[in-house]
Amino acid sequence: MTAMPILQVDDIEVVYEQVILAVHGVSLSLGEGRIVALLGANGAGKSTTLKAISALVGAERGEVVGGRVLYRGKDVTRSAPDVLVRNGLVQVLEGRHCFPHLSVEENLLAGALASGGSRQEVKAGLERIYHYFPRLKERRRSAAGYTSGGEQQMVAIGRALMARPAVVLLDEPSMGLAPLIVDEIFAIVARLNADEGVSFLLAEQNASVALRHAHHAYVLESGRVVAQGSAAELAARSDIHDLYLGAG
Ligand code: ATP
Repeated sequence: MTAMPILQVDDIEVVYEQVILAVHGVSLSLGEGRIVALLGANGAGKSTTLKAISALVGAERGEVVGGRVLYRGKDVTRSAPDVLVRNGLVQVLEGRHCFPHLSVEENLLAGALASGGSRQEVKAGLERIYHYFPRLKERRRSAAGYTSGGEQQMVAIGRALMARPAVVLLDEPSMGLAPLIVDEIFAIVARLNADEGVSFLLAEQNASVALRHAHHAYVLESGRVVAQGSAAELAARSDIHDLYLGAG
């Protein structure tokens, strides 16, 4: 018997503003302690799929009109985003979204608000983030808006981790960043996964870097899954390679 996936998406359909069908029946699963990548070009439906899972799609006049999302075996399709966060499922949005005038540390502390926790727990949470992101410890008193793009991506991931999630949905972590920083961020994701078993579902246009770190991947095109397999299988497929792995 195979273990139940921590996250399972069955045939979801997502519509924006009641007319634009952005995702047409996507199914995927994320095993506990795994890293799964969602690949595909601009507009393929990666962000929409993540936001459908985290229930953030509603904030953009989007709606899941078909299918369902199961988290730890429970149907959470109509859950509120804050309830999902408290239950361990968080999303790091594309584009980083730091509070630019707050310090790096204040940004991280904002991530603890959603999940509550005692002063001691919050302090331990910060130390944990600084353990994985030593750069953020060095920059903790700087205004987030004055840190580099890579550091802001680290702040966004660190802030999500303050909620002690079991599953992190990570949207386009490499966007606009230099290759060395992208590698540094993916290495930290891999360590969090290996050391603590945090599961990641990450959307990436940069397929080659994603496949170096993911266990399994799905390729989306026009809101549908057009290929899936282990990262090694997909990386070895010449058709996938030509279509999606040219960059990076
Ligand atoms: P990107 O990397 O550019 O974010 P993506 O693969 O994540 O691409 P989505 O952002 O999910 O793709 O977009 C899928 C489709 O849904 C596209 O046709 C897009 O124009 C449309 N779409 C996305 N967000 C909205 C929105 N808020 N309102 C209307 N349509 C949207």
